[in-house]
Amino acid sequence: MSDLKVADNVVVSIAYQLTLDDGDVLDSASASEPLIYLQGAGNIIPGLETELSGLNVGDSKQVTVAPGKAYGEVDPNEFQLVPRTLFPENLELEVGMGLRLVDQSTGQPLEAYVSELHEDKVLLDFNHPLAGETLTFDVEIVALRQATDEEIAHGHAHTGHQH
Ligand code: ZN
Repeated sequence: MSDLKVADNVVVSIAYQLTLDDGDVLDSASASEPLIYLQGAGNIIPGLETELSGLNVGDSKQVTVAPGKAYGEVDPNEFQLVPRTLFPENLELEVGMGLRLVDQSTGQPLEAYVSELHEDKVLLDFNHPLAGETLTFDVEIVALRQATDEEIAHGHAHTGHQH
């Protein structure tokens, strides 16, 4: 065993449960299939990364992350009213439905959610679905190892799935 702690350029394996304000469990990872990330590279939300710094293998911590350090506040400028004719007639739109769109001017893919349905217009919400949410993470540090030079250069952990 080493005395490695969570620090920049350390590959960290965590088990976690992510809970929203209303108690909904949004996401989790178990100790047998942990989330593996490179600390200090912005791989996870900044409010969580900071709070895990200095922990050892086996440590548990509950971390509450305010919207400003997670996915941001809901931005009123990120709503857009568009004509319903923008969508195929056979597409049944529902409030809360996620849509994949393409920005007309840049060609970039965009994600939006249907916020309101009107007779001939649709209010789209381009905020991140977790904007405005306070996130609570129950985290356990499962494993730590020093990152390789290649991982540090790439800015992410190599887990065998990605490169
Ligand atoms: Zn890589």
